[in-house]
Amino acid sequence: MDLPVVEIVEETPTTKTLVFDLEGRPFRFYPGQFVVLEVPHPETGEKLRRAYSIASPPTRRDRIELTVKRVENGRASVYLTTRVRIGERFRMKGPYGRFYWTEKLHSRIALLGAGSGVVPLVSILRYIRDRDLGNVDAVFLGSFTSYEEVIYREELLELGKLKNVRIALTLTREFPDSWQGYRGRINREILSREIPDAVERLHYLCGPPGFVESVRGTLLDLGVDRRNLKTERYR
Ligand SMILES: Cc1cc2nc3c(=O)[nH]c(=O)nc-3n(C[C@H](O)[C@H](O)[C@H](O)COP(=O)(O)OP(=O)(O)OC[C@H]3O[C@@H](n4cnc5c(N)ncnc54)[C@H](O)[C@@H]3O)c2cc1C
Repeated sequence: MDLPVVEIVEETPTTKTLVFDLEGRPFRFYPGQFVVLEVPHPETGEKLRRAYSIASPPTRRDRIELTVKRVENGRASVYLTTRVRIGERFRMKGPYGRFYWTEKLHSRIALLGAGSGVVPLVSILRYIRDRDLGNVDAVFLGSFTSYEEVIYREELLELGKLKNVRIALTLTREFPDSWQGYRGRINREILSREIPDAVERLHYLCGPPGFVESVRGTLLDLGVDRRNLKTERYR
């Protein structure tokens, strides 16, 4: 597909959402899947291919959204967060990936993400909200470096008001004085407290490889069956 950017949303000082118009094309995917985007690298004339999770839910039929966090010295992510203008067209392929959820898989889920790793998890939450899936029970645990870097902050607060969705956040580096959430990386205490029924849930872990490995190890220690752990490593 070759799609135009029709809107750019600043989510945090380092993160932007690019909204692409599907121009009437049907595009079917499951929440959690990703696309491969072709990104120009003006310095070398290369076309870089990078994976980006789809942030929007499949219930949104006219557009798809990608949320990109700027990585220091990152070629594609710097271009996407600083140089893209409305109207620019991008080639993308997909959808790809087995890291997805549908209501047929499990009705009790835990979504654990760090930084831009929350993107596919929020697609899943948006899908649950849009389809009004009241029989599903979801816990979302997001880890960010600071309050300013919490992606989709307002929307997460709104999603947390749904009776079948619980949202918990932790900040790892800087905390506002009034911060009521957790401090520090997701650990055994936080997991036991937020997901006391972890063994009964299907877990989705997404973010930097170190985050995914550490949370996966702790969940296994807590008795979660490895078949109930789905992981996506960003890199
Ligand atoms: C399945 C999948 C889905 C993804 N979805 C998203 C998404 O929704 N949003 C998003 O922002 N990113 C996502 N990523 C990461 C994305 O594909 C790129 O790796 C990222 O944008 C960096 O690319 P770059 O060209 O800017 O960095 P490069 O120019 O390739 O790398 C520059 C430097 O940054 C380091 N680096 C590369 N990637 C990362 C990273 N992710 N974190 C920290 N340091 C890094 C490299 O080691 C190198 O030192 C996803 C990755 C995968 C595999």
